[in-house]
Amino acid sequence: MPHYARVVTDDPTNKELDYLVPAQWENKVHVGSRVKVPLRSRNSFATVVELVGESTAPGIKTLAGLASEEPVLDSTLLRLVRWMADYYCCPLSTAIRCALPQVIRSGGFKRERWLSVNRPAAQEILAQLAKRAPRQAEVLQVALDQPGPIRWTDLVGLAATTDRTVKHLVNQGWLALSFENAERDPYRGEDYVRTEPLSLNPGQSKILTIATRAVDRGESKPILLHGITGSGKTEIYLQAIQHCLDLGRGALVLVPEISLTPQTVERFKSRFPRDLIAVLHSHLSAGERHDEWHRLRRGAARVAIGARSAVFAPVQDLALIVVDEEHESSYKQEETPRYHGRDLAVVRGQIQGCAVLLGSATPSLESYHNARTGKYELARLTARVDDRQLPLIRVIDLRQEFAKTRHPTILSRRLTAAVEDRLQKQEQSILFLNRRGFASSLLCAKCGFVCECANCSIPLTFHLAENRLKCHLCGYQAVAPKKCPNCADPGIRYSGYGTEKVVELVQKIFPTARISRMDADSMSRKDAYRHTLGAFRSGKIDILIGTQMIAKGLDFPKVTLVGIINADIGLHIPDFRAGERTFQLLTQVAGRAGRGETPGEVFVQTATPFSPSIQFARHHDFEGFWEQESEFRERCDYPPFNHLVLVHVKSEHQRRAEFTAETIHRRLNEKIEATVILHPPVPAQIERIKGFYRYHILLRTRSTTKLSRTIREVIDGLSFPEDVQVNVDVDPYQLL
Ligand code: ADP
Ligand code: ZN
Repeated sequence: MPHYARVVTDDPTNKELDYLVPAQWENKVHVGSRVKVPLRSRNSFATVVELVGESTAPGIKTLAGLASEEPVLDSTLLRLVRWMADYYCCPLSTAIRCALPQVIRSGGFKRERWLSVNRPAAQEILAQLAKRAPRQAEVLQVALDQPGPIRWTDLVGLAATTDRTVKHLVNQGWLALSFENAERDPYRGEDYVRTEPLSLNPGQSKILTIATRAVDRGESKPILLHGITGSGKTEIYLQAIQHCLDLGRGALVLVPEISLTPQTVERFKSRFPRDLIAVLHSHLSAGERHDEWHRLRRGAARVAIGARSAVFAPVQDLALIVVDEEHESSYKQEETPRYHGRDLAVVRGQIQGCAVLLGSATPSLESYHNARTGKYELARLTARVDDRQLPLIRVIDLRQEFAKTRHPTILSRRLTAAVEDRLQKQEQSILFLNRRGFASSLLCAKCGFVCECANCSIPLTFHLAENRLKCHLCGYQAVAPKKCPNCADPGIRYSGYGTEKVVELVQKIFPTARISRMDADSMSRKDAYRHTLGAFRSGKIDILIGTQMIAKGLDFPKVTLVGIINADIGLHIPDFRAGERTFQLLTQVAGRAGRGETPGEVFVQTATPFSPSIQFARHHDFEGFWEQESEFRERCDYPPFNHLVLVHVKSEHQRRAEFTAETIHRRLNEKIEATVILHPPVPAQIERIKGFYRYHILLRTRSTTKLSRTIREVIDGLSFPEDVQVNVDVDPYQLL
């Protein structure tokens, strides 16, 4: 009986094509296998999504090759990507692409070739070779000069020679060829002291029981663990995972990329035998990614830890999915497919029939709503471990500060005094400001001109270290002008401030304090982050100043003071989640204080001290915040009471972007159901980014999958000018 493989090729199409499976591959082609198929004039990679006995497709061709010995997508993952394609309105091939690392999709990678010198033989021949073939001798000498093995490509470069010469030396047996060792450990060379499970307090025990029971029963109704900062959530995750391992089963842990730090990873690596853990980090090389993926696939590693894309990790016999900091917006992917890692985790749990544990000190409105309506199970931890106090939060009104000092304040007098006090007591402080750079804009006092990016409609930020203006959206750079580019007035001045400026100021006030800055600029080097955190931990830094990089997950017992330099950043922007984000950020940052014996203190500087986000955070009142915020959301028909879908249209030509948006809007208007609310196309808040004019069409619906299908049909049915890009964002997080 002939067999046909129904495949989806890697091109962004939604078509499924049939190919004949040749007899010799009958047993090797499965659902989920990667294959090569002839498509038009060339071969293309494809994924088998079904095997069929018959096909009515005309002119059927034969499979051209196998890219993997075994299927790379098992049936549950295949169902997950199908769900993703439907829900997030993207082609199936795009969803598959996203679920599989590049190195797995293409069925392998080039292992690096390494050379080591066969010393006795090489030394013996060297003198003779120098006469006979001096170039070869030189190359051999370079290899001999190396302290250890050298990459093939490096030797070619270093000795200014060719592949052929090197190959000759290998063939002669003077150089030995090896391939990069099969399983690299990206954290190699680090030792972890094994930790034992802590004995849980009654609150923790109760929740662990809920979780392990869900594991045992295969109960996939998500458990939302709302536990205040420092209440011991991580310890519960660890013991729940241990339970899975005791059963010989697997677990998956999602953490926000930003907290995929050595500190978090260390807590997992030091609890379990390290062979059992696979860390899926964005810094992995193709080879490392390949190896970690296969260790999971084989069942050698049974716990996967990673950021959002780890939701697709091929953990065998998955029994539990943990999503830490479930409210984090970095779980949302901001490129197609624009999926949400937490939401996919919940769906994967359902498909797989495994337990799902979502944890946060500040659950998202969406998840908390689900818990309140009974879709999720709610579990709470309301006290810190050992009944440590939550830090005292004091709000400093910057308006009053201004009235007294008559100039804008970066560090209020009370915060300054508090820092000084900590320095004297040799305790540590964290100062938080969610803005990089030195000055947030360059403004002409005379004509009001603001230096804007050439490609984006936002002001440029001044960076002192490089003495340049930079765009935080596209990276555009410019020399800072000495006088106004518009009216030539020399009165151009900096306004607003970022972390660079805070460091300068704090250093001036406390000349002997040891200060470090931690933001995307100062941490661009790969190990800078580790390094700085290590120094902070061991007490070599007194004051750590940084952006949201320091807000999450860090646990430093000697930090007794946290200063939030300006709580208003991010609060007064036209995004319905601005209040929620500010509340979360303040709570998280405040949670860094007082994790040791000494109670912590937090100062929040703001010009709007009575905004609900600040007041509720100040009183550690999640419930209160939730009630007020969800009332607002319900009144305005925002999530979690409705789903949003945002259609983005962009082009370098404004008119074409606008025209396309209008056309899509018209077609949608004809097709959508009466229950869907369709808003007219408008220019996006940030009208231009990277030279592209942007238009938005917003829709609100209760049934996303249905609307996604309609939008797909409308978009597929239209043809757009080549320079116009159309993207669909289901449950969007970026509304600007
Ligand atoms: P969260 O994840 O809720 O912020 P953590 O799990 O980081 O809290 O716990 C905070 C601190 O308390 C950590 O140093 C952790 O080792 C410790 N801890 C957690 N549970 C216990 C326990 N049952 N007994 C003693 N210490 C604990
Ligand atoms: Zn720009």
